[in-house]
Amino acid sequence: MEQLLLEKEKLSELLKEIGSKYELIGPKEENGFLAFKKIEDPKEINLDVLLSRVPPKSLIFQQTETLFKYAKGKDSKVQTPQIDESPRVIFGIRPCDARGYDILDPVFMGKKEDDYKDPFYTKRRNRSLLIGVSCNEPDTNCFCTSFDDSPANPKHLDILFTDIGDYYYIEVVTEKGQDLIKNVSKIFSKATDKETSLRKETENAAINAISRKMNTEGAAEKLNGLFNHEFWFEAARGCIGCGICTYLCPTCHCFDMQDESTLKLGGKVRVWDSCMYPEYTHHASGHNPRPSRMNRVRNRVYHKFNYFPKNDGIFGCTGCGRCIDYCPVNIDIIEIIDDVKEVKA
Ligand code: SF4
Ligand code: SF4
Repeated sequence: MEQLLLEKEKLSELLKEIGSKYELIGPKEENGFLAFKKIEDPKEINLDVLLSRVPPKSLIFQQTETLFKYAKGKDSKVQTPQIDESPRVIFGIRPCDARGYDILDPVFMGKKEDDYKDPFYTKRRNRSLLIGVSCNEPDTNCFCTSFDDSPANPKHLDILFTDIGDYYYIEVVTEKGQDLIKNVSKIFSKATDKETSLRKETENAAINAISRKMNTEGAAEKLNGLFNHEFWFEAARGCIGCGICTYLCPTCHCFDMQDESTLKLGGKVRVWDSCMYPEYTHHASGHNPRPSRMNRVRNRVYHKFNYFPKNDGIFGCTGCGRCIDYCPVNIDIIEIIDDVKEVKA
């Protein structure tokens, strides 16, 4: 892995050049929150706020996606939207959100070469080059370290920037990242051992600043015997079923397919859905296998901490903390898993 340095005051110059060669997406303020949007001017980028409210999963798995459309009538033809496949750079993504893509990949692209690959997700994923920025000052509810992750983990990125004072310490992780570095002006210098140890110290300080920890060890196995436990009524008691915890989660991926129709036009649209809504599992017969909030909160926890480990060998959570930050009734996924570990089966 190549290690480079960039003077912090040259970041704008670099991003300007990247923006002239690639579509540049980054975190900027929108309606009082941080959101990943197209960047016209590097000054728009905000790296002071750690996480966007809506995770950058929306750049790849869009909240609303027209799968096909048609004009009605005897000469009707089905039209499939073209996805732009030109390379784009997503700058400023945090390591946990990049890991979210790796958790979503098997869902949309399968695990084997010949598995079905959702073309919309796959094309957007392949065109995206991820330049991450380490989290030097984690937020109150960050707990990525509970999943053996780190606020400065380069593994799920193409390039990682770490702020080490007057410089960004840059790790070029993938070939895609290497190609970008070759494609921009040579405004970098080589990192020395001194900066490498400064980067390590910065990472250690960030790890030590994470105060929340989820006790994940053995959680998946413990859940095997808890499905019918009364604990779930208590865990779900305050939930108002708003769905915020799922919409804002970088690993949640439930969707609905809807038919839209006017007098002359029609189409099939895929939209984000939430397992926290009763309609999500409502059968045409009228039966609902998850009729109460207890069933739905339990399902959310099982999907992330029992079904994901069984199917993919990982937890379906990155420890970003968004569901804790934004839940209007303070339901806390860390407390739920810690309680799961304590409850008598
Ligand atoms: S479950 Fe909560 S903490 Fe975990 S990835 Fe989803 S939003 Fe983040
Ligand atoms: S954000 Fe909180 S209240 Fe809303 S559905 Fe999720 S757990 Fe329930």
